[in-house]
Amino acid sequence: MSHLFYQGRGRKPVLDQARGVYMWDKDGRRYLDGSSGAMVCNIGHSNPHVLAAMQRQMEKSTFGYRLHFETEASEKLASRLVGLMPEGLSKVFFVSGGSEAVESGMKLARQYALAVGQGTRWKVISRAPSYHGCTLGALATTSYGPLTVPFEAMLRPMPKVPAPRAYLDGLDPDDPATGRHYADTLEAQIRAEGPETVLAFLLEPVGGASTGALVPPEGYMEAVREVCDRHGVLLIMDEVMTGAGRTGAFLGCEHWGTRPDIVVMSKGLGAGYAPLGAMIADERLVDPVLEAGGFAHGFTYAGNPLACAAGLAVVDEIERQGLCENARTMGEKLIARLHGLMQKHEIVGDVRGKGLLTAFEFMADRDSKAPLPKALNAHQRFVDIAYANGLIVYSRRTRDGVEGDHILVCPPLILTDTHLDEIVEGLDISLSQFAAELA
Ligand code: PMP
Repeated sequence: MSHLFYQGRGRKPVLDQARGVYMWDKDGRRYLDGSSGAMVCNIGHSNPHVLAAMQRQMEKSTFGYRLHFETEASEKLASRLVGLMPEGLSKVFFVSGGSEAVESGMKLARQYALAVGQGTRWKVISRAPSYHGCTLGALATTSYGPLTVPFEAMLRPMPKVPAPRAYLDGLDPDDPATGRHYADTLEAQIRAEGPETVLAFLLEPVGGASTGALVPPEGYMEAVREVCDRHGVLLIMDEVMTGAGRTGAFLGCEHWGTRPDIVVMSKGLGAGYAPLGAMIADERLVDPVLEAGGFAHGFTYAGNPLACAAGLAVVDEIERQGLCENARTMGEKLIARLHGLMQKHEIVGDVRGKGLLTAFEFMADRDSKAPLPKALNAHQRFVDIAYANGLIVYSRRTRDGVEGDHILVCPPLILTDTHLDEIVEGLDISLSQFAAELA
Protein backbone atom coordinates (compact mmCIF):
# COMPACT_ATOMS: atom_id res chain seq x y z
CA MET A 1 0.00 0.00 0.00
CA SER A 2 1.36 3.38 -1.01
CA HIS A 3 1.19 6.37 1.32
CA LEU A 4 1.47 8.80 -1.60
CA PHE A 5 -1.48 10.67 -3.00
CA TYR A 6 -1.68 13.15 -5.84
CA GLN A 7 -4.70 13.74 -8.07
CA GLY A 8 -6.31 10.32 -8.00
CA ARG A 9 -6.10 8.09 -11.10
CA GLY A 10 -5.08 5.04 -9.11
CA ARG A 11 -1.72 3.30 -9.13
CA LYS A 12 0.86 4.10 -11.76
CA PRO A 13 3.90 2.05 -12.75
CA VAL A 14 7.02 2.73 -10.72
CA LEU A 15 9.69 4.63 -12.64
CA ASP A 16 13.06 2.96 -12.78
CA GLN A 17 15.28 4.69 -15.34
CA ALA A 18 15.08 7.41 -17.96
CA ARG A 19 17.54 8.19 -20.76
CA GLY A 20 17.07 10.66 -23.61
CA VAL A 21 13.46 10.40 -24.80
CA TYR A 22 12.82 7.02 -23.16
CA MET A 23 11.67 5.93 -19.69
CA TRP A 24 11.53 2.44 -18.17
CA ASP A 25 9.35 1.19 -15.34
CA LYS A 26 10.35 -1.36 -12.68
CA ASP A 27 8.83 -4.16 -14.79
CA GLY A 28 11.18 -3.27 -17.64
CA ARG A 29 8.49 -1.71 -19.86
CA ARG A 30 9.77 1.08 -22.09
CA TYR A 31 7.85 4.30 -22.79
CA LEU A 32 8.61 7.06 -25.27
CA ASP A 33 8.19 10.30 -23.32
CA GLY A 34 6.01 12.15 -25.81
CA SER A 35 5.16 14.88 -23.31
CA SER A 36 8.57 15.53 -21.70
CA GLY A 37 6.90 14.81 -18.37
CA ALA A 38 4.62 17.83 -18.24
CA MET A 39 6.55 19.77 -20.92
CA VAL A 40 9.53 19.82 -18.55
CA CYS A 41 12.33 17.55 -19.81
CA ASN A 42 13.19 19.68 -22.85
CA ILE A 43 16.78 18.41 -23.14
CA GLY A 44 15.84 14.78 -22.49
CA HIS A 45 16.50 12.59 -19.49
CA SER A 46 19.88 11.92 -17.83
CA ASN A 47 21.93 14.37 -19.84
CA PRO A 48 25.53 13.62 -18.77
CA HIS A 49 26.70 17.27 -18.95
CA VAL A 50 23.95 18.40 -16.59
CA LEU A 51 24.57 15.50 -14.21
CA ALA A 52 28.30 16.30 -14.16
CA ALA A 53 27.64 20.01 -13.49
CA MET A 54 25.33 19.07 -10.62
CA GLN A 55 27.91 16.65 -9.24
CA ARG A 56 30.58 19.40 -9.30
CA GLN A 57 28.21 21.80 -7.51
CA MET A 58 27.21 19.17 -4.94
CA GLU A 59 30.83 18.67 -4.02
CA LYS A 60 31.17 22.43 -3.35
CA SER A 61 27.86 23.34 -1.64
CA THR A 62 24.21 22.43 -1.93
CA PHE A 63 22.60 25.32 -0.08
CA GLY A 64 23.30 28.92 0.77
CA TYR A 65 20.43 30.93 2.16
CA ARG A 66 19.74 33.87 -0.14
CA LEU A 67 19.81 36.44 2.67
CA HIS A 68 23.23 35.19 3.79
CA PHE A 69 25.05 34.47 0.53
CA GLU A 70 25.03 35.08 -3.18
CA THR A 71 26.21 31.98 -4.99
CA GLU A 72 28.33 31.72 -8.09
CA ALA A 73 25.79 29.38 -9.68
CA SER A 74 22.86 31.75 -9.22
CA GLU A 75 24.88 34.80 -10.37
CA LYS A 76 26.03 32.96 -13.49
CA LEU A 77 22.59 31.66 -14.36
CA ALA A 78 21.06 35.10 -13.82
CA SER A 79 23.48 36.79 -16.19
CA ARG A 80 23.07 33.99 -18.72
CA LEU A 81 19.28 34.38 -18.67
CA VAL A 82 19.45 38.15 -18.98
CA GLY A 83 21.50 37.66 -22.18
CA LEU A 84 18.59 35.63 -23.58
CA MET A 85 15.87 38.12 -22.63
CA PRO A 86 14.44 41.04 -24.59
CA GLU A 87 16.31 44.26 -23.84
CA GLY A 88 15.70 45.85 -20.46
CA LEU A 89 14.74 42.64 -18.68
CA SER A 90 17.81 42.50 -16.52
CA LYS A 91 16.68 41.64 -12.99
CA VAL A 92 16.27 38.00 -12.03
CA PHE A 93 14.44 36.51 -9.06
CA PHE A 94 14.80 32.74 -8.64
CA VAL A 95 12.07 30.45 -7.31
CA SER A 96 11.44 26.71 -7.29
CA GLY A 97 8.54 26.32 -9.73
CA GLY A 98 6.02 27.84 -12.09
CA SER A 99 3.31 28.88 -9.64
CA GLU A 100 5.93 30.59 -7.48
CA ALA A 101 7.27 32.40 -10.56
CA VAL A 102 3.80 33.62 -11.54
CA GLU A 103 3.03 34.83 -8.02
CA SER A 104 6.39 36.57 -7.86
CA GLY A 105 5.62 38.42 -11.10
CA MET A 106 2.21 39.50 -9.85
CA LYS A 107 3.65 40.69 -6.56
CA LEU A 108 6.54 42.58 -8.12
CA ALA A 109 4.07 44.36 -10.41
CA ARG A 110 1.93 45.29 -7.38
CA GLN A 111 4.85 46.58 -5.37
CA TYR A 112 6.05 48.59 -8.36
CA ALA A 113 2.60 50.20 -8.66
CA LEU A 114 2.71 51.09 -4.96
CA ALA A 115 6.25 52.45 -5.25
CA VAL A 116 5.32 54.80 -8.10
CA GLY A 117 2.10 56.08 -6.51
CA GLN A 118 -0.32 53.86 -8.47
CA GLY A 119 -1.69 51.96 -5.50
CA THR A 120 -5.18 51.74 -7.03
CA ARG A 121 -3.85 49.21 -9.53
CA TRP A 122 -4.17 45.61 -8.37
CA LYS A 123 -6.19 43.62 -10.93
CA VAL A 124 -4.32 41.10 -13.03
CA ILE A 125 -6.39 40.34 -16.11
CA SER A 126 -5.85 36.90 -17.63
CA ARG A 127 -7.65 34.74 -20.17
CA ALA A 128 -10.29 32.04 -20.19
CA PRO A 129 -9.40 29.25 -20.36
CA SER A 130 -5.93 29.50 -18.85
CA TYR A 131 -3.61 27.82 -16.39
CA HIS A 132 -1.08 29.82 -14.41
CA GLY A 133 -0.57 27.66 -11.32
CA CYS A 134 -2.25 26.13 -8.31
CA THR A 135 -1.21 28.38 -5.41
CA LEU A 136 -4.05 30.72 -4.44
CA GLY A 137 -2.59 33.82 -6.12
CA ALA A 138 -1.75 32.07 -9.38
CA LEU A 139 -5.07 30.22 -9.20
CA ALA A 140 -6.95 33.54 -9.09
CA THR A 141 -5.60 34.21 -12.59
CA THR A 142 -6.36 30.67 -13.75
CA SER A 143 -9.57 29.84 -15.58
CA TYR A 144 -10.04 26.10 -15.41
CA GLY A 145 -13.13 25.01 -13.50
CA PRO A 146 -12.02 21.65 -12.08
CA LEU A 147 -9.09 23.29 -10.31
CA THR A 148 -10.62 26.65 -9.38
CA VAL A 149 -14.23 25.92 -8.35
CA PRO A 150 -13.47 24.21 -4.99
CA PHE A 151 -11.48 27.26 -3.88
CA GLU A 152 -13.66 30.10 -5.16
CA ALA A 153 -14.52 31.28 -1.65
CA MET A 154 -10.81 31.69 -0.91
CA LEU A 155 -9.84 33.48 -4.12
CA ARG A 156 -9.77 37.19 -4.90
CA PRO A 157 -11.55 37.14 -8.28
CA MET A 158 -9.48 38.51 -11.16
CA PRO A 159 -11.00 39.60 -14.50
CA LYS A 160 -10.75 37.28 -17.49
CA VAL A 161 -11.00 37.88 -21.23
CA PRO A 162 -11.61 35.15 -23.81
CA ALA A 163 -8.53 33.34 -25.08
CA PRO A 164 -8.19 34.01 -28.82
CA ARG A 165 -9.60 30.73 -30.13
CA ALA A 166 -10.15 31.79 -33.73
CA TYR A 167 -10.75 28.18 -34.81
CA LEU A 168 -13.83 27.93 -32.58
CA ASP A 169 -15.03 31.48 -33.13
CA GLY A 170 -15.12 31.08 -36.92
CA LEU A 171 -12.42 33.74 -37.46
CA ASP A 172 -9.41 33.62 -39.78
CA PRO A 173 -6.25 33.29 -37.66
CA ASP A 174 -4.14 34.67 -40.52
CA ASP A 175 -6.10 37.92 -40.75
CA PRO A 176 -4.64 40.72 -38.57
CA ALA A 177 -8.21 41.89 -37.95
CA THR A 178 -8.68 38.72 -35.88
CA GLY A 179 -5.77 39.57 -33.58
CA ARG A 180 -7.09 43.11 -33.32
CA HIS A 181 -10.55 41.80 -32.44
CA TYR A 182 -9.28 39.86 -29.41
CA ALA A 183 -7.04 42.74 -28.31
CA ASP A 184 -10.11 45.02 -28.53
CA THR A 185 -11.85 42.66 -26.12
CA LEU A 186 -8.96 43.14 -23.71
CA GLU A 187 -9.15 46.92 -24.12
CA ALA A 188 -12.92 46.89 -23.48
CA GLN A 189 -12.31 44.87 -20.30
CA ILE A 190 -9.65 47.31 -19.10
CA ARG A 191 -12.03 50.22 -19.70
CA ALA A 192 -14.89 48.41 -17.94
CA GLU A 193 -12.71 47.69 -14.91
CA GLY A 194 -11.34 51.23 -14.91
CA PRO A 195 -7.76 51.41 -16.21
CA GLU A 196 -6.59 52.96 -12.93
CA THR A 197 -7.44 49.63 -11.20
CA VAL A 198 -5.69 47.35 -13.70
CA LEU A 199 -2.17 46.29 -12.81
CA ALA A 200 -1.21 43.75 -15.47
CA PHE A 201 -2.25 41.42 -18.26
CA LEU A 202 -0.95 37.86 -17.82
CA LEU A 203 -0.79 35.48 -20.76
CA GLU A 204 1.06 32.59 -22.33
CA PRO A 205 2.50 33.42 -25.78
CA VAL A 206 1.32 30.01 -27.02
CA GLY A 207 -1.44 28.53 -24.87
CA GLY A 208 -0.24 25.41 -23.09
CA ALA A 209 -2.19 22.95 -20.99
CA SER A 210 -5.43 24.92 -20.89
CA THR A 211 -5.97 25.57 -24.58
CA GLY A 212 -3.71 22.91 -26.10
CA ALA A 213 -0.87 24.58 -28.03
CA LEU A 214 -3.03 27.48 -29.11
CA VAL A 215 -1.05 29.81 -31.39
CA PRO A 216 -2.26 33.43 -31.26
CA PRO A 217 -3.83 34.86 -34.40
CA GLU A 218 -1.92 37.26 -36.61
CA GLY A 219 -1.49 40.69 -35.06
CA TYR A 220 -2.65 39.67 -31.58
CA MET A 221 0.60 39.93 -29.65
CA GLU A 222 1.48 43.30 -31.18
CA ALA A 223 -2.01 44.67 -30.51
CA VAL A 224 -1.98 43.41 -26.92
CA ARG A 225 1.29 45.25 -26.25
CA GLU A 226 -0.23 48.45 -27.69
CA VAL A 227 -3.35 48.13 -25.56
CA CYS A 228 -1.31 47.59 -22.40
CA ASP A 229 0.91 50.59 -23.18
CA ARG A 230 -2.10 52.80 -23.82
CA HIS A 231 -3.50 52.07 -20.36
CA GLY A 232 -0.33 51.79 -18.30
CA VAL A 233 -0.93 48.07 -17.82
CA LEU A 234 2.10 45.81 -17.35
CA LEU A 235 2.53 42.76 -19.59
CA ILE A 236 3.48 39.57 -17.75
CA MET A 237 4.49 36.75 -20.08
CA ASP A 238 3.98 33.28 -18.63
CA GLU A 239 6.75 31.30 -20.32
CA VAL A 240 6.59 28.49 -17.76
CA MET A 241 5.71 25.99 -20.49
CA THR A 242 6.78 27.83 -23.63
CA GLY A 243 10.20 28.95 -22.35
CA ALA A 244 13.59 27.24 -22.66
CA GLY A 245 13.22 26.45 -26.36
CA ARG A 246 9.90 24.58 -26.40
CA THR A 247 8.33 26.59 -29.25
CA GLY A 248 11.51 26.84 -31.34
CA ALA A 249 12.89 30.03 -29.76
CA PHE A 250 14.28 30.46 -26.24
CA LEU A 251 11.13 32.41 -25.30
CA GLY A 252 7.80 31.89 -27.03
CA CYS A 253 7.17 35.66 -27.24
CA GLU A 254 10.27 36.06 -29.45
CA HIS A 255 8.26 34.80 -32.43
CA TRP A 256 6.29 38.05 -32.37
CA GLY A 257 9.06 40.35 -31.14
CA THR A 258 6.95 41.17 -28.08
CA ARG A 259 8.72 42.90 -25.21
CA PRO A 260 7.07 41.92 -21.93
CA ASP A 261 7.66 43.83 -18.68
CA ILE A 262 8.03 40.59 -16.75
CA VAL A 263 8.82 37.05 -17.92
CA VAL A 264 8.17 34.02 -15.73
CA MET A 265 9.78 30.66 -16.48
CA SER A 266 10.16 27.26 -14.90
CA LYS A 267 9.58 23.78 -16.35
CA GLY A 268 12.20 23.55 -19.14
CA LEU A 269 14.69 25.68 -17.21
CA GLY A 270 15.33 23.03 -14.58
CA ALA A 271 14.32 20.48 -17.25
CA GLY A 272 13.48 17.87 -14.62
CA TYR A 273 16.97 17.98 -13.11
CA ALA A 274 16.02 20.40 -10.34
CA PRO A 275 13.00 22.36 -9.12
CA LEU A 276 13.76 25.78 -10.57
CA GLY A 277 11.90 28.82 -11.79
CA ALA A 278 12.71 32.44 -12.50
CA MET A 279 10.95 35.77 -12.67
CA ILE A 280 12.87 38.15 -14.91
CA ALA A 281 11.78 41.77 -14.75
CA ASP A 282 12.49 45.05 -16.41
CA GLU A 283 14.93 47.00 -14.26
CA ARG A 284 12.64 50.03 -14.35
CA LEU A 285 10.14 48.03 -12.27
CA VAL A 286 12.66 46.64 -9.82
CA ASP A 287 14.62 49.78 -8.98
CA PRO A 288 11.69 51.73 -7.45
CA VAL A 289 10.70 48.66 -5.41
CA LEU A 290 14.20 48.28 -4.00
CA GLU A 291 14.45 52.03 -3.32
CA ALA A 292 11.11 51.93 -1.51
CA GLY A 293 12.45 49.35 0.94
CA GLY A 294 12.74 46.06 -0.94
CA PHE A 295 10.64 43.30 -2.45
CA ALA A 296 8.37 41.94 0.28
CA HIS A 297 8.45 38.40 -1.03
CA GLY A 298 10.72 35.37 -1.18
CA PHE A 299 11.03 31.61 -0.81
CA THR A 300 13.54 29.72 1.35
CA TYR A 301 14.87 27.58 -1.48
CA ALA A 302 15.19 30.48 -3.94
CA GLY A 303 18.46 30.56 -5.84
CA ASN A 304 19.47 27.16 -4.56
CA PRO A 305 22.98 26.61 -5.97
CA LEU A 306 22.33 23.02 -7.02
CA ALA A 307 19.19 24.01 -8.93
CA CYS A 308 20.99 26.98 -10.50
CA ALA A 309 23.98 24.83 -11.52
CA ALA A 310 21.53 22.45 -13.18
CA GLY A 311 19.74 25.37 -14.88
CA LEU A 312 23.00 26.79 -16.19
CA ALA A 313 24.02 23.43 -17.64
CA VAL A 314 20.55 23.05 -19.18
CA VAL A 315 20.86 26.41 -20.93
CA ASP A 316 24.35 25.38 -22.11
CA GLU A 317 22.93 22.18 -23.57
CA ILE A 318 20.07 24.00 -25.29
CA GLU A 319 22.66 26.18 -27.03
CA ARG A 320 25.35 23.52 -27.60
CA GLN A 321 22.91 21.11 -29.23
CA GLY A 322 20.99 23.81 -31.14
CA LEU A 323 17.75 22.66 -29.52
CA CYS A 324 15.72 25.76 -30.42
CA GLU A 325 16.46 25.09 -34.10
CA ASN A 326 15.73 21.40 -33.67
CA ALA A 327 12.42 22.20 -31.99
CA ARG A 328 11.57 24.39 -34.97
CA THR A 329 12.43 21.87 -37.70
CA MET A 330 11.14 18.79 -35.89
CA GLY A 331 8.03 20.73 -34.82
CA GLU A 332 7.20 21.49 -38.46
CA LYS A 333 7.61 17.81 -39.32
CA LEU A 334 5.48 16.74 -36.36
CA ILE A 335 2.67 19.15 -37.25
CA ALA A 336 2.71 17.87 -40.85
CA ARG A 337 2.49 14.28 -39.59
CA LEU A 338 -0.35 15.19 -37.20
CA HIS A 339 -2.23 16.66 -40.16
CA GLY A 340 -1.70 13.31 -41.87
CA LEU A 341 -3.27 11.58 -38.87
CA MET A 342 -6.15 14.06 -38.98
CA GLN A 343 -6.85 13.05 -42.59
CA LYS A 344 -6.93 9.41 -41.59
CA HIS A 345 -8.81 9.69 -38.29
CA GLU A 346 -12.16 11.48 -38.43
CA ILE A 347 -12.16 12.01 -34.67
CA VAL A 348 -9.23 14.44 -34.86
CA GLY A 349 -10.85 17.82 -35.47
CA ASP A 350 -7.95 20.25 -35.18
CA VAL A 351 -4.15 20.20 -35.22
CA ARG A 352 -2.06 23.13 -33.99
CA GLY A 353 1.15 24.22 -32.36
CA LYS A 354 4.48 25.99 -32.56
CA GLY A 355 7.86 24.25 -32.40
CA LEU A 356 7.49 21.12 -30.27
CA LEU A 357 4.47 22.48 -28.39
CA THR A 358 1.87 20.71 -30.51
CA ALA A 359 -1.61 19.31 -29.98
CA PHE A 360 -4.65 17.83 -31.61
CA GLU A 361 -8.23 18.19 -30.49
CA PHE A 362 -10.97 15.58 -30.63
CA MET A 363 -14.27 16.60 -32.20
CA ALA A 364 -17.50 14.72 -32.73
CA ASP A 365 -18.11 16.79 -35.85
CA ARG A 366 -15.53 18.87 -37.71
CA ASP A 367 -18.03 21.22 -39.40
CA SER A 368 -19.86 22.27 -36.27
CA LYS A 369 -16.70 21.76 -34.17
CA ALA A 370 -18.87 19.90 -31.64
CA PRO A 371 -16.77 18.27 -28.91
CA LEU A 372 -17.07 14.64 -27.90
CA PRO A 373 -19.52 14.13 -25.02
CA LYS A 374 -17.95 15.01 -21.70
CA ALA A 375 -19.02 11.66 -20.22
CA LEU A 376 -16.61 9.84 -22.53
CA ASN A 377 -13.68 11.50 -20.74
CA ALA A 378 -12.04 11.08 -24.14
CA HIS A 379 -8.78 12.81 -23.39
CA GLN A 380 -8.04 10.60 -20.40
CA ARG A 381 -9.12 7.46 -22.21
CA PHE A 382 -6.80 8.27 -25.11
CA VAL A 383 -3.88 8.91 -22.77
CA ASP A 384 -4.46 5.49 -21.19
CA ILE A 385 -4.55 3.77 -24.58
CA ALA A 386 -1.36 5.49 -25.72
CA TYR A 387 0.27 4.62 -22.42
CA ALA A 388 -0.57 0.95 -22.93
CA ASN A 389 1.13 1.31 -26.33
CA GLY A 390 4.29 2.66 -24.70
CA LEU A 391 3.70 6.31 -25.60
CA ILE A 392 3.26 9.05 -23.00
CA VAL A 393 1.20 12.07 -24.04
CA TYR A 394 -0.42 14.86 -22.02
CA SER A 395 -4.08 15.73 -22.14
CA ARG A 396 -6.63 18.18 -20.88
CA ARG A 397 -10.22 19.02 -21.31
CA THR A 398 -10.43 22.47 -22.90
CA ARG A 399 -13.32 24.76 -23.91
CA ASP A 400 -13.52 26.58 -20.58
CA GLY A 401 -12.64 23.44 -18.76
CA VAL A 402 -15.93 21.67 -19.26
CA GLU A 403 -15.96 20.07 -22.68
CA GLY A 404 -13.66 19.41 -25.60
CA ASP A 405 -10.54 17.29 -25.32
CA HIS A 406 -7.05 17.92 -26.55
CA ILE A 407 -3.90 15.84 -26.57
CA LEU A 408 -0.56 17.62 -26.27
CA VAL A 409 2.34 15.98 -28.09
CA CYS A 410 5.46 17.66 -26.72
CA PRO A 411 8.49 15.35 -26.81
CA PRO A 412 11.97 16.42 -25.67
CA LEU A 413 13.65 18.88 -28.04
CA ILE A 414 16.41 16.34 -28.77
CA LEU A 415 13.89 14.52 -30.99
CA THR A 416 15.22 12.70 -34.07
CA ASP A 417 13.40 11.45 -37.18
CA THR A 418 13.41 7.92 -35.76
CA HIS A 419 11.74 9.09 -32.55
CA LEU A 420 9.24 11.05 -34.62
CA ASP A 421 8.29 7.94 -36.60
CA GLU A 422 7.82 6.05 -33.37
CA ILE A 423 5.56 8.75 -31.92
CA VAL A 424 3.42 8.95 -35.06
CA GLU A 425 3.09 5.18 -35.19
CA GLY A 426 2.07 5.08 -31.51
CA LEU A 427 -0.51 7.82 -32.07
CA ASP A 428 -1.85 6.14 -35.21
CA ILE A 429 -2.37 2.78 -33.48
CA SER A 430 -3.86 4.46 -30.42
CA LEU A 431 -6.26 6.58 -32.50
CA SER A 432 -7.45 3.46 -34.37
CA GLN A 433 -8.04 1.64 -31.08
CA PHE A 434 -9.85 4.63 -29.59
CA ALA A 435 -12.05 5.09 -32.68
CA ALA A 436 -12.90 1.37 -32.55
CA GLU A 437 -13.99 1.75 -28.92
CA LEU A 438 -16.27 4.65 -29.85
CA ALA A 439 -17.83 2.87 -32.84
N1 PMP B 1 2.10 28.49 -15.79
C1 PMP B 1 1.95 27.62 -16.80
C2 PMP B 1 1.74 28.15 -18.18
C3 PMP B 1 1.99 26.25 -16.57
O1 PMP B 1 1.82 25.40 -17.59
C4 PMP B 1 2.20 25.77 -15.26
C5 PMP B 1 2.26 24.29 -14.95
N2 PMP B 1 1.60 23.46 -15.80
C6 PMP B 1 2.35 26.71 -14.23
C7 PMP B 1 2.31 28.05 -14.53
C8 PMP B 1 2.58 26.26 -12.82
O2 PMP B 1 3.80 25.65 -12.69
P1 PMP B 1 4.13 24.65 -11.46
O3 PMP B 1 3.27 23.45 -11.66
O4 PMP B 1 5.58 24.38 -11.62
O5 PMP B 1 3.83 25.39 -10.21
